[in-house]
Amino acid sequence: MLNKMLINGELVSGTGALMDVYNPATGEVLCQIAEASAEQVDAAVAAANSAFESWSQTTPSARSTLLLKLADTIESMGEEFARLESNDVGKPYSAALNDEIPAIADVFRFFAGACRCMNGSAAAEYLPGFTSMIRRDPVGVVASIAPWNYPLMMAAWKLAPALAAGNCVVIKPSEITPLTTLKMSEVLQDIFPAGVVNVLFGGGINVGAPLTSHKGVSMVSLTGSIPTGQKIVESGAASMKRTHMELGGKAPVLVFDDADLDEVVDGLRAFGFYNAGQDCTAACRIYVQKSVYPQLVEKLTAAVATIKIGSQDEEGVEMGPLVSAAQLEKVASMVDNARALPHISITTGGKKADRAGYFYEPTVIAGALQDDDIVRKEVFGPVVSITEFDTEADALRMANDSDYGLASSVWTSDTGRAARISARLQYGCTWVNTHFMLTSEMPHGGMKMSGYGKDMSMYGLEDYTTIRHVMIKH
Ligand code: NAD
Repeated sequence: MLNKMLINGELVSGTGALMDVYNPATGEVLCQIAEASAEQVDAAVAAANSAFESWSQTTPSARSTLLLKLADTIESMGEEFARLESNDVGKPYSAALNDEIPAIADVFRFFAGACRCMNGSAAAEYLPGFTSMIRRDPVGVVASIAPWNYPLMMAAWKLAPALAAGNCVVIKPSEITPLTTLKMSEVLQDIFPAGVVNVLFGGGINVGAPLTSHKGVSMVSLTGSIPTGQKIVESGAASMKRTHMELGGKAPVLVFDDADLDEVVDGLRAFGFYNAGQDCTAACRIYVQKSVYPQLVEKLTAAVATIKIGSQDEEGVEMGPLVSAAQLEKVASMVDNARALPHISITTGGKKADRAGYFYEPTVIAGALQDDDIVRKEVFGPVVSITEFDTEADALRMANDSDYGLASSVWTSDTGRAARISARLQYGCTWVNTHFMLTSEMPHGGMKMSGYGKDMSMYGLEDYTTIRHVMIKH
């Protein structure tokens, strides 16, 4: 592992403080990496600004060719990337290889095509003697800040639209899970001209904050927590930076009495616990209609109890550990606080697993009430809560009564009801009779405190451009 950053086309080590990177399945240190210094942050931003001059003038076709090459290279090195990702995040190797690598390559391929197909309003003579046209031009230098749950995938979601649109980028992966993004530095160095993409390593305070508040940065894209988003927006106000915020979530799952309960249970077992529930769209806040509540609790409890936890390569492993000791403590304390409430019953799980590493048992919390923290706050772990509701109106009211607005799902066999409720849910995405299905063509992003700005899709590409009017006097 070189674990080098990429600044102005050179692979370099940080000259700041050393940080430990852990294997969450064992709690052992995998390696130590030095953070970027303040001078290295400045150098990366300066390199991106000088590269912008020529990169922003390349044709969509030229940018597309390089993005396709990047997709092919990541795919051909899929096993190496998947191994690093699973060691670093703790997730099953097979999930990293078979679920994530193809999706990552697809994101680069989608934007490689999308930038050649951008369209907009007509050019015309809106005043006699003048021709007006609309342009969509790159914004400038984008600082991209990624989280730890899907490190390489989030890097792809950020790099692909920004580069496709003609911007230059300085990206910082999470200090907790930097290995695949640092590995990608080697690939990026081969493919892109110096300075077009720069990769920095370091924590939020030492590297993230100086980067995102840097006067040479025009736009900041964050996938992370709400408090980090708030800090970045505040610090960007001085120079009026454009911001693109993908923050947390607390997805409501509305289960009606006419739903196919076996399908609901299969769906919740898969989509509530994938990536150990460390997913901003995780199906974690379940509302069930009264008449089927006891049945759903019983069936879901039985199903969740069979989820096999284990380290990256264990036979049949379905769920890995949490990403860090801190995340394990956070999840454990949220469940302990819920357990202390008289109306709560924890029907399976509810404790740390009895093994090394940061494992927490897949957990179902029944009897939760709307104002419980376990219903209101993001756990970001393998924990789902179940709350009973009476009428359709109650379900909708409780689902929308949240600070978050990222993802939601409705489970019913009544198409009219599905359409009616989907129209009124205040979430960036609503799935019907499924959950958590993403595709590069469709936008992903939130409402309310979950943020704004879209990842993936043509809307993602547009977010990384600025609309300009050019008027020509005849
Ligand atoms: P985090 O906010 O702690 O960290 C995210 C990134 O921000 C890291 O790279 C971190 O180093 C950096 N950072 C921290 N403080 C900073 C600062 N002051 N200035 C600049 N950068 C700073 O979040 P996390 O714990 O890595 O990720 C989990 C969170 O991300 C959850 O809340 C989750 O819901 C959210 N998330 C959202 C999406 C989405 O698409 N909406 C996807 C994945 C994760």
